[in-house]
Amino acid sequence: MKIAFFDAKPYDITYFEQYGEENGVKFKFYDTRLGEDTAELSRGCDAVCVFVNDDVSSTVIDRLYEYGVRLIALRCSGFNNVDVKYAYEKIHVVHVPYYSPYAVAEHTMAMLLTSVRRIHKAYNRTKDFNFSLSGLTGFDLHGKTVGVIGTGNIGRTFINICEGFGMKVIAYDKFPSEETDIEYAPLERVFEESDVISLHCPLNKETYHIIDEDAIEKMKKGATIVNTSRGALIDADALLEGIKSRKIGAACLDVYEEENDVFFEDFSGHIIDDDTLARLITMPNVLVTSHQAFLTEEALSSIAETTVRNIVEFFKDGKCENELCYRCGKTANCRQHRVDKCF
Ligand code: NAD
Repeated sequence: MKIAFFDAKPYDITYFEQYGEENGVKFKFYDTRLGEDTAELSRGCDAVCVFVNDDVSSTVIDRLYEYGVRLIALRCSGFNNVDVKYAYEKIHVVHVPYYSPYAVAEHTMAMLLTSVRRIHKAYNRTKDFNFSLSGLTGFDLHGKTVGVIGTGNIGRTFINICEGFGMKVIAYDKFPSEETDIEYAPLERVFEESDVISLHCPLNKETYHIIDEDAIEKMKKGATIVNTSRGALIDADALLEGIKSRKIGAACLDVYEEENDVFFEDFSGHIIDDDTLARLITMPNVLVTSHQAFLTEEALSSIAETTVRNIVEFFKDGKCENELCYRCGKTANCRQHRVDKCF
């Protein structure tokens, strides 16, 4: 089995080489991303392995199909960058629905604590032997209300962490879980009552810009927004306005609407063209990490193990338990998939 592996980073290669060798899967690592201009690199490969910012649009899918690719193996859980519907009856799509929800949930809390207790400011100050505390006043998380949007693997793990901090949790989910004591509330109430709002739902047509000007208008003055899910859940321009008007108290962003052009690369010494991102980064109350929440040893190992297992399973008999179905977009609810395969 030959797999073209796009957007390869050194930390990916270590784990994928190890699991690949153990299971007879040979990866051809390319540091370029998959897109219309690079699809040709997959010629002669059985599958492509892609990440969050690879472009797997209909045009790219046509090219891959023409080159003989029969499987798109996502090495992540989100799949908003793949036209799964268009791939139906052409190329199968598998993903990693679960790896380490702790990696992302813990990063979410790390960002929140950093922001709330001004750790990023203190770190820079003490590096410069500035031991002044002025301007570093934070607030207790204990007793505050956190509104969690999306209560899947990561959202629930984050809720557990917040409960450990003594926070009151309210949540919104389009498909609320029945086997839980989570207090669900309509989205409006989550916006109105939360001191901290954390996003853990997938990006799709319904959730695109779930945080926009109207949503921000409904929020408490001084609310903190945390996004470790997908950038386009937030209208970045509306967020910037919310920050400038002091309506939003702070924002912690591990993902950004237009991150495709900048995240994962070193742009130090360059001029950033994205004015919204540049302005957000200048704000003292905005914290940005570069889609880093998944980046733990445990998560990387688990992602490589599951991706290799998906590939091996698929090429054994055409079935894979982690196949995505465009009809439901959720593997667990897809009856046809559970019984057999998507096509
Ligand atoms: P999951 O599938 O376990 O949970 C997603 C939850 O969102 C589900 O409970 C689902 O019912 C809910 N949901 C679906 N549509 C919704 C809607 N319209 N409104 C509100 N809720 C809705 O997924 P997960 O493993 O918890 O991951 C959540 C998201 O985190 C992923 O979609 C991915 O985009 C993101 N993620 C980011 C990183 C990172 O490194 N920053 C890493 C992994 C995952």
